[in-house]
Amino acid sequence: MQRYNIIKDKIPREILLLKSLPCLYGKCSFCNYILDNSTNINEIIDTNVEIVNMISGEFGVVEIINSGSVFEIPEAILSLIREKCNSKQIHTIYFEVYYGYRKRLKEIIDYFPKQEIRFRIGIETFDDEFRERVYNKPFPTTNLKEFSTNFYACCLLICVQGQVIEQIENDIKIALTYFKEVTINVFVDNGTPVKHDSNLFNLFMTNIYPKIKDLPNIEILIDNKDLGVFVQ
Ligand code: SF4
Repeated sequence: MQRYNIIKDKIPREILLLKSLPCLYGKCSFCNYILDNSTNINEIIDTNVEIVNMISGEFGVVEIINSGSVFEIPEAILSLIREKCNSKQIHTIYFEVYYGYRKRLKEIIDYFPKQEIRFRIGIETFDDEFRERVYNKPFPTTNLKEFSTNFYACCLLICVQGQVIEQIENDIKIALTYFKEVTINVFVDNGTPVKHDSNLFNLFMTNIYPKIKDLPNIEILIDNKDLGVFVQ
């Protein structure tokens, strides 16, 4: 288990993986990270206090992930994050947010008046039919302008059985058009019904990866431990 790391490449930042209350949605077919969620508030607080206190301010940028959305982090911990970020001159904080919270983003922006807040959303794919059928994560992406206004960054999930290379190419193109930063997660088998497609992965590595790997605003996670924070 690793809940704190420093990322020096491309987008230098401290990254914290916090424990949180259960994800509001909790039904994405590929997601096993919600196993880290808890309903035990004391356990959540005890786990997180130590991690939040590790913030050093080295880059002025902190990313908080919590196997859910920022709204599932208890207030006591949000308050500690704010106090720590203020005292360490953090100017930018990234938070994860699920689509269902899109109308509440201002609450977090107002809670952290001294920082720029950047929201990251797990879009996974812009093919809405595929996202609903394969990932069980339905929402419409017809209004991409609205997404790009609300969310600074998005995540894509690639190389799963049923996908084709053209879909991955198209998703990356759309993501780069509408979001300032993009995280590409290569799916790794994790015991859920979604399965890795190794042929597609080889195609991606041969045809797409070399063209995008050096773009400054794309992070490609070949392994789900690549950010250096993980619980399994
Ligand atoms: S919204 Fe995110 S954390 Fe919640 S189930 Fe889906 S992928 Fe997992």
